[in-house]
Parts: sequence; structure tokens; C-alpha cells
Amino acid sequence: MARLEEYRSIVGGDTIAELRLLAAQMRGKSVLHVNSTAVGGGVAEILSRMVPLLQELEVDTRWEVIKGGEDFYAVCKKFHNALHGDPVEVLPRDYAVYEDTVDQNLAQMSLDADTVFIHDPQPAALVKKRQTMKNRWLWRCHIDISRPNPQVWGFLKPYVERYDACVVSAPPFAQKLSVPQAMIAPSIDPLSDKNRELEPEEVAAILARLDIPTDKPLVTQVSRFDRLKDPLGVIAAFEKARAYAQARLILVGGPADDDPEGAAVLAEVREKAAGNPDIMVLCLPPTSHLEINAIQRASSVILQKSLREGFGLTVSEGLWKGKPVIASAVGGIPLQIAHKYSGILVHSVDGTAYWLRQLLNEPAYAKKLGENGREHVRQNFLLTRHLRDYLLLFLLAEHPGAEFIHLARPEALGRAGGG
Ligand code: UDP
Repeated sequence: MARLEEYRSIVGGDTIAELRLLAAQMRGKSVLHVNSTAVGGGVAEILSRMVPLLQELEVDTRWEVIKGGEDFYAVCKKFHNALHGDPVEVLPRDYAVYEDTVDQNLAQMSLDADTVFIHDPQPAALVKKRQTMKNRWLWRCHIDISRPNPQVWGFLKPYVERYDACVVSAPPFAQKLSVPQAMIAPSIDPLSDKNRELEPEEVAAILARLDIPTDKPLVTQVSRFDRLKDPLGVIAAFEKARAYAQARLILVGGPADDDPEGAAVLAEVREKAAGNPDIMVLCLPPTSHLEINAIQRASSVILQKSLREGFGLTVSEGLWKGKPVIASAVGGIPLQIAHKYSGILVHSVDGTAYWLRQLLNEPAYAKKLGENGREHVRQNFLLTRHLRDYLLLFLLAEHPGAEFIHLARPEALGRAGGG
């Protein structure tokens, strides 16, 4: 596991010093993260990298995962789709399953920490216990709640308003709430297997193992097989562009056995790709971080043609590898891409096809976009920036209503207080 000092050569000494200064104000304070899964998905990926760094900085940090049965996760999935704006029918029984599961977790879980940091809707109602405690509560929403289903949002909102603050990933996701909201973008870890530097021989060996031919430039989209990621739109755009540029398309996703909708989308994608030898559909296990890293590094262009998006970590992953990324202007993607500077923003199949053809035919321009994109990610979307924002948020929560928070040097802490 990477240690803080290892980030110095990537983000500079000032960033490391700033993190140590901020963390020193939180020394001895405890932070509890709660989410709904220990593995799989962006939230678990970020927490698994961030929690050890907080511990290394001597912030007393724990991470708990709520437990629930199949019916609870089915309800949570309904909530998730509804909060993304889908017309989902949520029944009175569903709300009861949700409340019961949260109550069972409350009976078993210790929420004893100075700051309780709850991630996403699944554990949001744990806040009902807060009146018995004197600590700070923060709700971190990782999904797009810009156009939520009013019924489900109407159920969750009173819980959200019992927190001290709510954190969203991008400006469009802000809600009308009676509590303060902060915008904190997610991040990628430049030292994880998904993103660390790889030798060309390592990339070549992984591609050979996966039977990916490298005779033509590769165009890649990495995404769950989900309609909102528009894999059929990706194929349509690729086929239009291919009339003018030689390339292979790879659609990388995970196995969809546990997700009936995912399996249906994968089948549609396979059907649409069948008969086109330049399109490859690749199903990889969820642990395939190195493989995805290698495929992204071997690509000439990365696509993310989502119809809706939370933040879109795959965009940062592509840009960090210095790749030109063509992505839809939805969710958090415009935070990552300044059009024609650090990538290309698109709104349609035709736009995607147009820019794909341009970038495949103008490698020097494509390279410049990738270089600018990598620098933009270095400045804004690496784990160290995310850690700094969380430390600032914890400090603000520790000092409610303070006009100034004195950031004393660690050795002077005994004398300078906050507030
Ligand atoms: N990912 C993966 N395997 C897959 C598909 C996606 O490891 O088959 C990873 C991808 O590299 C990224 C994350 O899952 O780190 C997806 O995050 P993003 O924000 O792009 O989309 P989400 O799936 O959260 O909607």
C-alpha cells in the first residue's frame, strides 16, 4: 500500500506538507466512514486508498460497512435508479425494508466517532441515531441527484437535513437543502494498480494475454454494461468514424451475471458488435485493475459516451495516462475536460464520430490534449487533493460557525486552538 511520501514526486512537497499541517489539527480526533460495500465500485476503491493515508497521518480513522439482505440491496438499487431520475415504482414495503435494515445496523454498529462520514443513500438513515450523540455528521453523495425522483428524494431529504453538511461531486448535483453543501470531486490514486506507470513490455504482455491485437490504433471505453454508458452509441459512432480512419474498438466491462439489466445490455452489445472484426467486447473480473491500466495505456483514444454520469472516474483514468479523451458533457465530466484543451466534450453519436475521426487522423493534436488532460488531473483529481478537501471539511465540522480556524504548526498545537 502506497505511503504519503511516495506521492511527493507526483504532487510536490508543498502538497505533502499541507496535508501534514491539516492532519495535525485533526490528530487525536476520530473519523468513521460508513458505506455499503467493502469491494467493487468507486466508493470502496477510494476508501480503500484513503483510509490508510488518514491513519498514517494519525487521524483515528475507521471504516464500517452496513449489512443487509438481498431485499435491502434490491431496494437500494431502486433508490439509486430513482435518484438518477428513473421512473421507478417504490412500494411502502420497500421503505419498510430500508428502515428495518438501517435499524438492525444501528443496533449492532458503534457510531462513536468525532466525525461520522456516511457515503451514499444506503446508510443515510443511520443519522436517526444522532440525537443521542454529540458528534458531527456528514453525508457524502457520490451519485447524480440533479433530477431525482420526487417520491424517493422526498423520503431521503429529511434524513439528509439532519446532517451537519452534505457533500456532492459536481455543481449540478446541488439541491435545495436547509444544511450547507460542499462540492468535493472524487479522485484517482496515481499509485494504485489501476493507474500506476507500467513498462511498455508489461503493457504488451497483458495485451497479448488478453488476445488484443495491436495492428491498428485502439479506441477504448471502460464501463459497466449499463444503458446510461451508451455502449450501443459508442459502436454506432465507431462505425461512422471507421469509414475515414483505421482503428479497433474495445468495450471493456465486468461480468453481469448478478445484474439482469447488465446481462441484457451485454447481450445487445455483443449482437451489435457481431460481424465486425474490429470491435472487441471484453468482460473482465472486478479485480482486473492492471489489465484496465494496460488497455488504457495501449489506447490511442479513450471514449466515455455516457448519457448520464456521476463523476466519471474513467475519464480521469484516461487523462492521467496522457490519452486524448472524448466524453459526453454530462455529470462531472465537464469538470475534467475543457473542450479542445484537455479533451473533447460531445453531445451525440455524430459528434463522437466526428471527433474520433479527427483525433485518429491528427495524432499531434490528440497528444497535446492528452498532455493537458494529465496536468489537469494532476492539479485537481488525484487522491492527495481529495484527502486535503476531506481534512478541511472535517476541520470545518469541528469548528461550527468559526470565522477563522488557526492552522498551527504541529509543535505549536498545545497553544493555538481552533475557532
Ligand atoms: N471499472 C472496472 N471494471 C469494469 C468497469 C469499470 O474496474 O469492468 C472501473 C473503472 O476503471 C472506474 C470505475 O470502475 O475506476 C467506474 O467508475 P465511474 O465513475 O467511471 O463509473 P460508475 O461505474 O461509478 O458509474
